[in-house]
Amino acid sequence: MSTALKTAPGHRLRADAAAAFDAANGARRWVLTDSERPLATQIRIFLERYMPARTGGGHYGDIRWWNGVRYVRRKGFAAAAVPGTSNHGTGTAIDVTGLGHVGSPTWEAFRRDVEPHGWRHPDWAKTSNFYEPWHWEYNPALDANLVSRPGAGTGGSIATPTIPDAPASISPTTPTHQEIDMPMLIQSPEDGIWLLDGGVRHPISDESITGLTGKLGAPAGVTTQFLRGVPRAGANQLLLIQAPGRGIGLITGGGFVPVQEMDTVAKLQSSGVALRELAAPAFDALASA
Ligand SMILES: [Zn+2]
Repeated sequence: MSTALKTAPGHRLRADAAAAFDAANGARRWVLTDSERPLATQIRIFLERYMPARTGGGHYGDIRWWNGVRYVRRKGFAAAAVPGTSNHGTGTAIDVTGLGHVGSPTWEAFRRDVEPHGWRHPDWAKTSNFYEPWHWEYNPALDANLVSRPGAGTGGSIATPTIPDAPASISPTTPTHQEIDMPMLIQSPEDGIWLLDGGVRHPISDESITGLTGKLGAPAGVTTQFLRGVPRAGANQLLLIQAPGRGIGLITGGGFVPVQEMDTVAKLQSSGVALRELAAPAFDALASA
């Protein structure tokens, strides 16, 4: 899946991100402390830094949900993404040692080296509660070496930085079946598990429903005949939203559902559900609506 970096021994990234970093780091000037992070490592780091808490925001007001459990960040620890949602998990993020603070001469020198190759320092990593001057992310759409080629630069499945923070534009689904206007999981003997939302069905893999069952409950059994009578996913029926430090959530006609597993995200995207990146405040507004 991933590719070993030529200019940073022991580190791996998604193939396009690896090529872009090696191109920027030809002089082997920059040293990484972290790159692609396997899921087991993401889980270990998350559990080191966050503890379960039914109420309150902890020291930082940094609240995350994972596998249906509410966590807050421990005092003195850096933030960590919910396992399965980190850019480190997708092999498109690096942590760079020795850069100093945001805007320092060394930090600026790094920025000048990598920006033409599609690497950016995300805005969330500049804020006090999530201050990580070392954390950089790759976006192929911003890679000047890719966008000059026809058809290139559109492969990024997550980063869509031009989407404004506009929760008001997300309108509730108009149900086509009055009796099923709340999102629910349904299951038929022959066709597996689906998310039923606004009378439209979206495929969900059996292994990836943990995050959804926590909010929506166990799948209800339906007959295959019933399932086939329900329309398949159309555009704009559902929307996945993502914000730095917040993970991914699903906006449905009935509200917000946190999504923990990238497999679920991939399934929903393959059925036509768009994934939009929002600023954290906009994400929080939708998540608490
Ligand atoms: Zn990082």
